[in-house]
Order: sequence, then structure tokens, then C-alpha cells
Amino acid sequence: MGQDEAFRLRDLILGGGCAIGRSGRPCGVNRRCRLASEAEHFDVIVVGGGVIGCSVAFYAAGIGARVLVLEKAAFGGGASSANPGSVALSSKQPGRSLDLAIASRILYETLQAELDADLEFAVEGNLTIAETPEELAFVEDLSNGQRLAGVPVRSLSADECRALNPLLEGPIVGGAHCPIDAHTNPFLVTAAFARGAVKRGAQLRPRVEVLGIDQGEAGKLTVRTVNGPITCDHVVNAAGLAAPRIGAMLGLDHDVIPRAGHVAVLEAAGPCARVKTASASQLLAKHGPENPASRAGISLSYNYKPASGTILLGGSNQKGIASREVSLDIMAGIIAGACRLMPRLEDLTILRAWAGVRPYAPGGPILGRAGADERYLAAFGHGGDGMALAPVTGRYVAEQLRSSRELSLEEFLATMPGGGGLAALAVEMNEHAAGDA
Ligand SMILES: Cc1cc2nc3c(=O)[nH]c(=O)nc-3n(C[C@H](O)[C@H](O)[C@H](O)COP(=O)(O)OP(=O)(O)OC[C@H]3O[C@@H](n4cnc5c(N)ncnc54)[C@H](O)[C@@H]3O)c2cc1C
Repeated sequence: MGQDEAFRLRDLILGGGCAIGRSGRPCGVNRRCRLASEAEHFDVIVVGGGVIGCSVAFYAAGIGARVLVLEKAAFGGGASSANPGSVALSSKQPGRSLDLAIASRILYETLQAELDADLEFAVEGNLTIAETPEELAFVEDLSNGQRLAGVPVRSLSADECRALNPLLEGPIVGGAHCPIDAHTNPFLVTAAFARGAVKRGAQLRPRVEVLGIDQGEAGKLTVRTVNGPITCDHVVNAAGLAAPRIGAMLGLDHDVIPRAGHVAVLEAAGPCARVKTASASQLLAKHGPENPASRAGISLSYNYKPASGTILLGGSNQKGIASREVSLDIMAGIIAGACRLMPRLEDLTILRAWAGVRPYAPGGPILGRAGADERYLAAFGHGGDGMALAPVTGRYVAEQLRSSRELSLEEFLATMPGGGGLAALAVEMNEHAAGDA
């Protein structure tokens, strides 16, 4: 399938379903139905066409695997199109989460060239602001751990925060700044991974839902779809919120909890601070236990998008909520909180708003072999970090597919660009940050 062929509107309308065989069964007349009705076999079937599934497809096709991605709806139509595209280190807890984020951040440095695409990737930094001494202590603690991992986070006074973002005229007590945090355009990233995968020979099929996975003949797995069965050597579960359902097809019990979030798009007018600015309460909502004072986890997340001249304003972290319906109460809470900290936002026009759902796995994303069957690989549960972690997830799963034995995350990270592990990667990033200053 050629690059353009994968993205024609006709494909998206017909998808893997068939206009002739409307029952959902293959009719055997059109090309796709002929393919589906013939015995098809792939090295790897990826279930789910979000940013994670498309990244896995890109890197797996890069190691020579024959890859098929099955997406039950539209590619990138899930959580992957509902986020503002922050590629941050300063929001990650030290440990596995930060290690993955550092590796992925390094991959983002060269991703536009690798994918031959403009991803609107920009290194504008991230400013975390605290409104109370307790929040400041939390930010300090988090920053200390990040500094130990080599991330160049600097503690700031309230005045230093305002110097970085002059829109901050509300009550703040201090904060922290990470100059190498970045942002990107999530739509472009998912589409570029998908196109890159197709260029490398992968097949992408929208509107093909996976209904079941069976042990096939001669050790193959048989993936049952709305268009009939397809066999493969490996299945990668990249189904986001639906990952537990896919795992259950092989008798596995995965825990993925929905966390809804709201975003408003404002028309930027006048001078805008370029640095992403987030309140410490956003990190507390993300990492902390359920906060009885704010069950919706309403906080400030200000993201200026120079390419579109808009400000993406978040957010909420509604634990256990899977609804994508926009709540006016939550939007009003977000806007009131943002205007308290940045009063000049009051004059801006809201263009649109949306809600999306983060697929959150307690303990962080589930990656690689999961369960006794080594033909089954996991790539889900990224919560609010999937856009940032998509490159490293795809690379790791591809390396795991290539390896004849289980490859630990630590072993994999040690093989990443930057030489021998995280210290070397962090040094590279510090050099990059110094070069930007
Ligand atoms: C409001 C909000 C803000 C966020 N902000 C950020 C941010 O700034 N930075 C960041 O890094 N991350 C952020 N995230 C998180 C990020 O969006 C997600 O972690 C990421 O998109 C998850 O990607 P995914 O591919 O796993 O899931 P999805 O994009 O949801 O893709 C899963 C796909 O699987 C398909 N599927 C499900 N079941 C089946 C089946 N049976 N057969 C075939 N296909 C199936 C679905 O249709 C879906 O398209 C945010 C998320 C939200 C909601």
C-alpha cells in the first residue's frame, strides 16, 4: 500500500468494513475484502491506531517486520488527538517514568528528520508555579529528584517566574523552570508515525475492530476481526483505554483507569509568553492521591502554540471518568483558575473546547512482554504521558520483538542514543540546553 493510499478519504469512509458486504463480512469483491478473505499472515499485528500503535508500527517495520495495524475507528481518534502535545520531563516522577521520558525526549530531537515531517516540535521550556508554601515544597522535592537524574531544573522565586511569563500577575510564591521541556503537534506526530510505518511497508486498516485473539495452528495467533480472521506471530496491544479488553482475549487481567481531561482553545492576541506554564496543583492531581478538595483535579496548564496562534488552556484530571463530553462546570473552573493567575487571559476569545480520556495504568505504562505468552506484547497505560513517551515506546517494543529473549527496560535504555545510559543522555541534553540559552 502506498503512502497516499493509506490516507485517502475513501479508505477512512469504507475503512476495513465493506460498502458491498454491509453485514461486516468480507464480500470478496473489492480489494480489501479480497485481502481479508484470503489467508493473511503478518509478523506483527498492532491493535490500536493511536500515537502508540503507530509508533510501534513505525519502529517494528523498521526492523523488517511485516506489520498490520488494526484500528476500530479512525487513526489517532482516541486520546492521541485530545492532548496539547507537551513533551515534558519536569512533570515526571524520578525513576522509571523519568528514565523513559529522558530517552524519548532524546529521540524527539531527531524525530522530525527520521519521519521526514514537520511535527511543530519546539523547545520552549516548562515553568511550574506554586501558589502555596506546601505546593512549593512539593515542587522542590520533585525538582531535586529530577536534578539527580541530570535534568536541568532550576528553582525560581515568584519574581523570576513572572520574568519568564509576564502574564503571571496572580498570587504565586515561586516555582521551577526546565528549559529543555518541549511541545509538539499531536495530530502531526500520530500521522507522521503512521505515514512512516506505511513507507516502511506496514499496512494500516481503519475501522477494523479486533473481536478476539485465539491460539492458531502451528503456534500462530489468530486475530479475529469484523472482517474475518488474520494470523500473526506477535500481537501488540496498543488499544489505549480498551487494552484490558484486548488482554482479556488471552486471559490476562490488565488495569487501565480512565482519567478525563478538558482543554480550551483560545485565540492568542497580543504578546504571549512562549514558556509552557503549569500549576503545581496539576502535578499534585497527576501524581497524588485523590484530592477531596478538587475531585476534578482542576489546575492551570497554559500552552502557547505559535504555529496556530492559539493558546491551549487546561486542564482537569478526572480520575475514573471515561466521558468525552465537555462539562461547562469544569470548563468554567479551569477558566476562572487560569484568569486568577493570568488576569489578561480574560480578554481572549474561546474558539473551541474538548474533553479526552487518558488511559492511565497505576505504576506507569505497561510495555513489552506481559504475561506468559511471549507472542503478546503490551504498549498501553501511558496516562497523561503518551505523546511524550510514544517514540521510546515504539523503539522498545520493536527491540523486544527483535530479541529472542526478554529485554529489560534497563538493558534497552542502555542501548539508546547518547552512549552508555541515562547519565550520558542527560549530559547531551544539558549541552543542548546551554546551546539554546
Ligand atoms: C486532556 C489530555 C491531555 C493530555 N496531555 C498530554 C500531554 O501534554 N503530553 C503527553 O505526552 N500526553 C498527554 N496526554 C496523554 C496522551 O494523549 C495519551 O497517553 C496517548 O494519546 C495514548 O495513546 P494511545 O495510542 O495509547 O491511545 P489512543 O490514542 O486512545 O489509541 C488507542 C486506539 O485503540 C483503538 N482500539 C480500541 N479497541 C480496539 C479494538 N478492539 N480493535 C481495534 N482498535 C481498537 C481505539 O479506537 C484508539 O484509536 C493527554 C491526554 C488527555 C486526554
